[in-house]
Amino acid sequence: MHDVIIIGAGPAGLSAALWCDELGLDTLVLEQQAEIGGQLLSVYNRIGNYLGARAGSGLELRDLFAEQVKDSDFDLWTDAEIESVDLAGKRIVLKSGEELQSISFIIATGVRRRRLGIPGELELMGRGVMESATRERDEFAGKDVCVVGGGDAAAENALLLAEVCPTVTLVHRGQKLRARSEFIERLRGEHCITVFKESTLRRIIGETEVEAVEIMREGALKPFQMAVKGVLIRIGVEPNTELFSEQLHMDESGYIVVTGEQETSVGNVFAVGDVSNPLAPTISGATGAGATAAKVIASRLHS
Ligand SMILES: Cc1cc2nc3c(=O)[nH]c(=O)nc-3n(C[C@H](O)[C@H](O)[C@H](O)COP(=O)(O)OP(=O)(O)OC[C@H]3O[C@@H](n4cnc5c(N)ncnc54)[C@H](O)[C@@H]3O)c2cc1C
Repeated sequence: MHDVIIIGAGPAGLSAALWCDELGLDTLVLEQQAEIGGQLLSVYNRIGNYLGARAGSGLELRDLFAEQVKDSDFDLWTDAEIESVDLAGKRIVLKSGEELQSISFIIATGVRRRRLGIPGELELMGRGVMESATRERDEFAGKDVCVVGGGDAAAENALLLAEVCPTVTLVHRGQKLRARSEFIERLRGEHCITVFKESTLRRIIGETEVEAVEIMREGALKPFQMAVKGVLIRIGVEPNTELFSEQLHMDESGYIVVTGEQETSVGNVFAVGDVSNPLAPTISGATGAGATAAKVIASRLHS
């Protein structure tokens, strides 16, 4: 029986673990990936907005976190795949069959990139379907590309690709781009960027690598194909909460609803970081929420 089991070892889970350890709680962290760090592993830009640490990339910041927690006494299991969770009964069963029990849980499972769910998207990943414009931009220099989405991430990535690609087509299903006005102004000034609004990507076509995309424009009778060598999809994120469905109060998008103490609708089950913060997901917010949950748990256990 542990005092706390933390699910997820991104910034929120690691901060909670550091605090739980400092407050003398018997703590186990379960991370499904082979590495800790969560989304930091896919941040290829410099991070300058996390107070106290400047980092050239998310990986660099992750390494600082790893260095800081390495002398703590909490247990950390990576590659820990959870089969099922019973939040009310405070039990977890791992895919390995092992059963774990804890007085309290902290859910810190974060978010993942939303997918379109269209043919070719997964099959051609890494073969024209890009993961990051920052990291892969040079590979696509001189090639025509397509970016899907209408928010800041889609606009920023389209602008980045426009620096090296002859044409960039931005495909957005809405009537208006949601990106900040600064990005929209810059998109207008880039002659190689074409914006297709009220349009959806239906298919990514290619045998061994991306050759074309199929686009459907609203009101058109049939889709058309456009030759491109690269596709980048930036249509937002979704919370990793399937494991807890029907056990917790969630909003309509699946984010966990919490109190000011980070507690969920089930007693002694807390949720911290992006998984419970759809409006302002940040590293600072995630680490702060982790600390709050740990302090609340410690005060209850010690009282
Ligand atoms: C490209 C990019 C740039 C960003 N830039 C900035 C920035 O400049 N400044 C800033 O403040 N924020 C930035 N962010 C956001 C920041 O990375 C997140 O707010 C932060 O990582 C949230 O931390 P978290 O611990 O809540 O979630 P995550 O980082 O998503 O970590 C969640 C962890 O939980 C694990 N997990 C999920 N499900 C399970 C399960 N069932 N069992 C076990 N483990 C599980 C995941 O594998 C992951 O390791 C950026 C994000 C991206 C993608």
